[in-house]
Amino acid sequence: MKMYGKADVDTAALEGKKIAIIGYGSQGRAHASNLKDSGHNVVVGLREGSGSQAAAENDGHTVQTPVDAASDAALVALLTPDTTQAAVYKEIEGHLAEGAALLFAHGFNIHFGQIEPRADLDVVMIAPKGPGDLVRRQYLAGQGVPSLVAIAEDKTGTALSRALAYADGIGGTRAGVIETTFKEETETDLFGEQAVLCGGATELVVKGFETLVEAGYQPEVAYYECMHELKLIVDLLHEGGLKKMHEFISDTALWGDHISGPRVVDDSAKARMKDVLTDIQDGTFAREWIAENEAGMPEFKKRSAEDLAHPIEEVGTRLRSQMPWLNQD
Ligand code: NDP
Ligand code: MG
Repeated sequence: MKMYGKADVDTAALEGKKIAIIGYGSQGRAHASNLKDSGHNVVVGLREGSGSQAAAENDGHTVQTPVDAASDAALVALLTPDTTQAAVYKEIEGHLAEGAALLFAHGFNIHFGQIEPRADLDVVMIAPKGPGDLVRRQYLAGQGVPSLVAIAEDKTGTALSRALAYADGIGGTRAGVIETTFKEETETDLFGEQAVLCGGATELVVKGFETLVEAGYQPEVAYYECMHELKLIVDLLHEGGLKKMHEFISDTALWGDHISGPRVVDDSAKARMKDVLTDIQDGTFAREWIAENEAGMPEFKKRSAEDLAHPIEEVGTRLRSQMPWLNQD
């Protein structure tokens, strides 16, 4: 494993050079603002009539069209949704400076061949391992979200130094930047969000809630147990791993963990995790997701609406309104 830190950064690699951030959403906003606060020359690229323009301007950024922002930039970060990047790239390709660096925060479009960058470009990735909001908040607090760096193409000999200077500008080197490949980042990122972080965790919460409610317990009590309290456990894991959780939960809870955890998430669940990974590795997931996009995302919209119509959402909305200190937006 190779991890880069502050000492590996050549700040001159991007100093005074134009950095274009295309898209001002979760990651775009955090990267653009952190880079600007780190003293870099940042321009934000947004399409005509973009809903994010006001936010970018309020944050003190210069906003141009994606084409104008990308023209003459030493580094162009494509931070629009993954499903839109191929079209955005097509639009800006003819305007990119010779030898510019094209930067991604996730490897999907390069790994699955949705974008084939021009032959003279460096193609790099800085993937923060956390949502954009955290990338910004931790930067402001003098901290940083750990990140991954990958180089797909190094045509200029400066791909790595430019990528690390970018990672440094967004605060990533404070926590460490681990070297990976587009393939490893893409496959592990998709697996993590599907099996554990988003898909796995929400199904565990919802199925636990349903089990209690169907057994006749109050939905409000089930909500506290299965959703609200999850944060406390996740914080312990995040801060100190299994050891810290063991120290902070009761012996009864830990005994129940040993006895019942493996009954719920057993070897058959692990075998299905392996199936999920296989679909990612052999391109099945990517093919289906690209087809879903091309069809206008009917299944995506249907399933998202079903998630939000679940009774746990109604109960949760009511209970969270008692806790205005929760950052609900
Ligand atoms: P967002 O969905 O937050 O991006 C929204 C931004 O993209 C808005 O500024 C939006 O502007 C713009 N945009 C949307 N569609 C288009 C389009 N067709 N053309 C031009 N601009 C468009 O993206 P994320 O920040 O979630 O993701 C960006 C990248 O970062 C992805 O590669 C993702 O995988 C990666 N990533 C994301 C993480 C996260 O936590 N979200 C974590 C790590 C990596 P408008 O107002 O015009 O729609
Ligand atoms: Mg779900």
